[in-house]
Amino acid sequence: MLVQTKGLTKSFGGLTAVNQVDAEIETNKITAIIGPNGAGKSTFFNLISGLHPPTEGTIHFKGTDITKLRTYEIARLGVGRTFQTTHLFEQSTVLDNVIIGHRLRTKSGLFDSIFKTGRLEREEAACREKAHEVLEFVGLSEMSHRLVSDISQEAKKRTAFALALATDPEIVFLDEPAAGINPEETDGLAELMKKMVDKGITVCLIEHKMKMVMSIADKIIVLNHGKKIAEGTPDDIKNNELVIQAYLGG
Ligand code: ADP
Ligand code: MG
Repeated sequence: MLVQTKGLTKSFGGLTAVNQVDAEIETNKITAIIGPNGAGKSTFFNLISGLHPPTEGTIHFKGTDITKLRTYEIARLGVGRTFQTTHLFEQSTVLDNVIIGHRLRTKSGLFDSIFKTGRLEREEAACREKAHEVLEFVGLSEMSHRLVSDISQEAKKRTAFALALATDPEIVFLDEPAAGINPEETDGLAELMKKMVDKGITVCLIEHKMKMVMSIADKIIVLNHGKKIAEGTPDDIKNNELVIQAYLGG
């Protein structure tokens, strides 16, 4: 098992967005988190990647307690994630977005820039090389010099994947990767996720497109009102009464 949460809880004032969630994410599998809007899915990701401190509960990554670590420390351990495409710099190139994202995620910031100047050039070159490598992996080599504002929504999704992959993660958390793209493009992204798993990268995604989830997920975890209400294989979930009710009854 790669990631394990126990009693994971996050309250925002009076609202409990994630409520006592015990979840396990298996190594080298695709795990999907589903649930109605506001179920706490993105908050669950934000907790694991260290954006919010949990109110209660623990998070372990490869057996190490990461509950209290900061975002960049968690990223350095091998946990990557995508944000919505609105986090991309529209007026920069695809390549520069990957390079900038790489820096933001791996450096503790100014301290490094001031005190490690000797190393900077070599790091810069390595960073560029990595960016080219991940852009090729996601199929964007040809577009690396285009401005993000000029590329399709699907290419933006792939750019977001490249950003997450640039830090050589062991696991990537993908928040609604197929939102706003057509069925054919969705299939393409599903293939790319499978390719990640083939490369040894564990995938955990939040997704509303059930057809895609059902076709690629090894395991599905269902959240509703912050609570885990079901988990299992796509077949288990399809026939689960609680899940059907959560979607129909809101
Ligand atoms: P989902 O991704 O499943 O749609 P979210 O995790 O984004 O749901 O949100 C779950 C609940 O927590 C929602 O009611 C949302 O309004 C609330 N919430 C999320 N983030 C914050 C925040 N930073 N501050 C206050 N409330 C938040
Ligand atoms: Mg969300």
